[in-house]
Amino acid sequence: MTNTNETHDPSLESWVDSANAPNAAFPIQNLPFGVFSRRGSAEMPRVGVAIGDAVLDVSACHAAGLLDDAAETAAACAAPELNRLMSLGPTHASRLRLALSRLLRRDSAVRARVPPQALVSLRDAELHLPASIGDYSDFFASIHHATNAGRMFRPDSPLLPNYKHVPIAYHGRASSVIVSGTAVRRPVGQSKAPDAAAPTIGASKRLDYELELGVFIGAGNKLGERIALADAEQHVFGMCLVNDWSARAIQGWEYQPLGPFLGKSFGTTVSPWVVTLEALAPFRGPAPERPQGDPRPLPYLSSSADRANGAIDIDVEVAIASSTMRTNGAPAHTLARTSSRHLYWTIFQMVAHHTVNGCNLRPGDLIATGTASGPTAGELGSLLELTANGAKPFALPDGDTRTFLEDGDEVILRGFCRRDGVRTIGFGEARGIIASAVA
Ligand code: CA
Repeated sequence: MTNTNETHDPSLESWVDSANAPNAAFPIQNLPFGVFSRRGSAEMPRVGVAIGDAVLDVSACHAAGLLDDAAETAAACAAPELNRLMSLGPTHASRLRLALSRLLRRDSAVRARVPPQALVSLRDAELHLPASIGDYSDFFASIHHATNAGRMFRPDSPLLPNYKHVPIAYHGRASSVIVSGTAVRRPVGQSKAPDAAAPTIGASKRLDYELELGVFIGAGNKLGERIALADAEQHVFGMCLVNDWSARAIQGWEYQPLGPFLGKSFGTTVSPWVVTLEALAPFRGPAPERPQGDPRPLPYLSSSADRANGAIDIDVEVAIASSTMRTNGAPAHTLARTSSRHLYWTIFQMVAHHTVNGCNLRPGDLIATGTASGPTAGELGSLLELTANGAKPFALPDGDTRTFLEDGDEVILRGFCRRDGVRTIGFGEARGIIASAVA
């Protein structure tokens, strides 16, 4: 969805005053969907939309007759997951977004009819995993990350010969995808140091994060059918932040010949809010120009529309706060800032490639981009790259040093879309604290 409409108008303001603050992540132009319940209550989690520092309960507004222009779609929001809403496809989601935008505008005629209990402060809301995720696949779409990581093992030919032809991915584990704020337990696993005679089992060292973006699939495709590149955006519901936690010691020993397994499957953190593809329309742009001599992708991965508008410019950053820093009230220390516009493959190429063999994607499936490192030293999306696989420690503001994550460290991902003349929108955060391994 590349066209903008009245919901993107930068002059729109909301009667929820906090949404109008210049740096608000959730202004009325954003309207990301998530699943919430009141903290400490036994009520059923249900779909809400973030507005300023609050959540609007979509079902409560629908029950009050305030979303009649999108009644069928609003009815899909009385569920503890976004899957039903996602399955309806972009036309329905767009109709609901328009109805919510009109309801939340400062000049809304029906504002007084919004039930008071339909607006819940984010402070009082518990945010849940946004979807029931049936499958999770993780791509490797940053050529900078692929080159940086490959160089550590193959200094003379860091990129494998297939990289520029085929969007590489591995099949991740859906059951351990967790929402921001859930602790991540350091995994126990098997590893072998290069100079050791035999492997050992124990609490894994060299624990890392990976700064990524996620794509939630909306309408799926039938088994045996493929999604053409031209149709891919009809199947993308929206995007979130993803931290693909990685145990490098386990990964280094197990990954050949079939790829990541237990080094990744102990936990993957997602942000609670899903920013719709429609909300991202003003931030679309050309995919990066391929350097002279790079192969042209095969026809199923290539279109002029995708080259012109397939990239999405999302600024993402990763920060760390040790337990000492948090105790002292020190701010988190930023480790990298980059943008998703550097990715070698667009998210639409990922969808087309994922289904070219007839594999069916289903509503709520999660596809991640892979570590979104950019081209410069300040844009490295993992500690593997930032510390040259542990060879170059870095200092925290309090003088402590790190090569990889220690127990008690909190990793915080954030994302924003900014463009001149367009209202800035945010993704919120994806946080996780490392808990010590179970002996
Ligand atoms: Ca990854």
